[in-house]
Amino acid sequence: MPGVSLRDLFPVPSLMKARNVLVVQPHPDDAEWGAGATIAALTSSGAEVNYVTVTDGGWGSVDPEVDPSELARRRREEQAEAARVLGVSEMAWLDFPDGNVPTGADPALRSPLVRLIRSYKPDAVMGPDPWLPYEAHPDHYGTGFAVAAAVVLAGLEPPYRLPGLNAHSPAMLAMYNTSRPNTYVGVDAFWEKKLSAIAAHSSQFQGPVWEMGRLYLRAQAEELAARARALGKAGPGVTLVESFKVLTPLHLHCNTGAEEW
Ligand SMILES: [Zn+2]
Repeated sequence: MPGVSLRDLFPVPSLMKARNVLVVQPHPDDAEWGAGATIAALTSSGAEVNYVTVTDGGWGSVDPEVDPSELARRRREEQAEAARVLGVSEMAWLDFPDGNVPTGADPALRSPLVRLIRSYKPDAVMGPDPWLPYEAHPDHYGTGFAVAAAVVLAGLEPPYRLPGLNAHSPAMLAMYNTSRPNTYVGVDAFWEKKLSAIAAHSSQFQGPVWEMGRLYLRAQAEELAARARALGKAGPGVTLVESFKVLTPLHLHCNTGAEEW
């Protein structure tokens, strides 16, 4: 078929058309930080969004006296409030100890993720981009690789069989915290919801830390909006953008062009 490009054969799906989204995050607050405004936009357009948090978040402190299990309890409550702000339906917790996410798409993590994908049957799965250069937190790249593997493997029947959970292939994986975005979501109308959801994580974001965090997020969203406008991927009135690398399961296996798509 001369004249048909690979991009024509494997187009990137539209994230905002997803109606059932499963969001996977390494720690409480990661999804709000990387994708909170988009999640709010999705739920307010009627999409169902459910969360999977991989770890208990017990390492999220610089206080030498902190009790990690007490912190984990508090963070679960904070996450529930953040999810309520964003309109998230259900929260699943995998309860890996913070800092101990297996790396290399280990079955200990990808197996429960495959089962959750088969159970919720999302058309879009969100996870952190494991191919982010200079990402040094093993929980983040560990989670990202396991999510990408689970998106590919959930569509095959034999792996991790359980009664009633047949193969389900999501239409797309949308990776947040990415340096190679191909999807720009204008989020001006949902920015305050994102900030409220992050602020619900009061064990993490207080005083000067949160002040700096808000400045960082806004500067990042404004830069992404400028880039999206220059690419013709956002209208002139869009001033705040969250970005994603969106790929299909077909892009995610033996596809040498996926980096640029
Ligand atoms: Zn994290």
